[in-house]
Amino acid sequence: MSVQVAFIGLGTMGYPMAGHLARRFETIVWNRTHAKAQAHAQQFGSRAVSDVRETAQAEFIFTCLPTSVEVEAMVEQTLSALRPGTVWIDCTSGDPNHSRRIAQMLKGSGCEFLDAPVSGGKAGAEAGTLTVMVGGEEATFRRALPVIEAFAGKVFHVGDVGAGHAVKAINNMLLAVNLIAVAEGLVTLVKEGVDPAVALEVINVSTGRSFVSEVHFPERVLTRAFPPTFSLGLLAKDARIAVSIAREAYLPTPLMQLATEVFEMAKRQIGADADHTAVVKLIESWAGVEIAPKQKEG
Ligand code: NDP
Repeated sequence: MSVQVAFIGLGTMGYPMAGHLARRFETIVWNRTHAKAQAHAQQFGSRAVSDVRETAQAEFIFTCLPTSVEVEAMVEQTLSALRPGTVWIDCTSGDPNHSRRIAQMLKGSGCEFLDAPVSGGKAGAEAGTLTVMVGGEEATFRRALPVIEAFAGKVFHVGDVGAGHAVKAINNMLLAVNLIAVAEGLVTLVKEGVDPAVALEVINVSTGRSFVSEVHFPERVLTRAFPPTFSLGLLAKDARIAVSIAREAYLPTPLMQLATEVFEMAKRQIGADADHTAVVKLIESWAGVEIAPKQKEG
């Protein structure tokens, strides 16, 4: 019998990820807004269902939802229909503690859980080249690997349940810290009369460079485009998760705390639905300048 997979949550990331699955496997899709599931079925040949419990027919069930709260709600709704041996693969950038509770709930029904958050953004999801960091039992990981590979460039098994979410939260915290740091550096240079486009050219062949300085600032900030691909609200959520992990371990992490506060401020002032790079606008408002290339004279 051919492998059946299901995908719950056809958002920015889930829609193309489920598309890659549908090219290789029989794929059931469910989305809160059903029209998106229908569009997916039209585009990729998946099967759209209107009752989430119908996803329980699949051997592998994927979720890619905003937070672990929505994931738990989906597990609760489908639990009585799940068959023993089903593997629930959560690609949400979730909370490790919450995931451990969800895994326990599934275990009670003879099902397995993997946290498998992804990195690579909308472009990586569309290209099928996402980096996937997986937490869970080794045997379950091995079983799920061939399906995960449908949308992945690189897949890492990083530890027990929750470890994938922990690695993802820290990765995104590094993204958050970088965005703030590069913005503060560049508004300072603009005040000093330096063209930020020229400053970035220098930094990007020097030791201060990062993915944020090499890609985000040239493509999203200097252009003033801030295209909405990954929301500021979701990055603020990831920062909060990273801080909560550090707090539980009683670790002093001042930089992580500060970055989280700045993102909370940005969420209120700039808006949760803006692109995450729009945090730069908050730093610009404090400085009273914009990080935009200098206009050429003449
Ligand atoms: P989107 O906001 O684009 O999509 C969210 C999805 O969740 C939609 O399908 C939405 O349904 C569904 N949803 C929201 N609330 C509920 C609910 N209460 N019940 C059921 N379904 C719900 O998010 P993204 O795709 O951007 O992000 C998804 C996850 O992936 C997040 O955890 C995010 O942090 C992570 N991520 C995002 C990246 C990005 O670049 N965007 C990169 C890497 C990870 P509906 O269509 O009805 O609104």
